[in-house]
Amino acid sequence: MTAVEEIEIRCPATVPLPNGYCPPGKLLMKLLVSGDVPSFVRPDNLIELPCEDCRARLRKRGVSVRRVLHRFDLTGQLVATLTDGEVI
Ligand SMILES: [Zn+2]
Repeated sequence: MTAVEEIEIRCPATVPLPNGYCPPGKLLMKLLVSGDVPSFVRPDNLIELPCEDCRARLRKRGVSVRRVLHRFDLTGQLVATLTDGEVI
């Protein structure tokens, strides 16, 4: 039996609270992995997930964007964050 590992894909933009505690970002997706890396996991494959938390944070700062997207590769590593066509 191969052990199953759980990977949590979270919003990377964590904001510390006034007391210094840094809560984890919003959970966007969970991956369960085990054994070898499957053949479909290639660097060019990615998953793009919209993030309401980042959009709300930008709006609070006066930046109005239609959406914020976090891009991850299939091992859960953040590739880029985009807003309305811009990479941030
Ligand atoms: Zn986010």
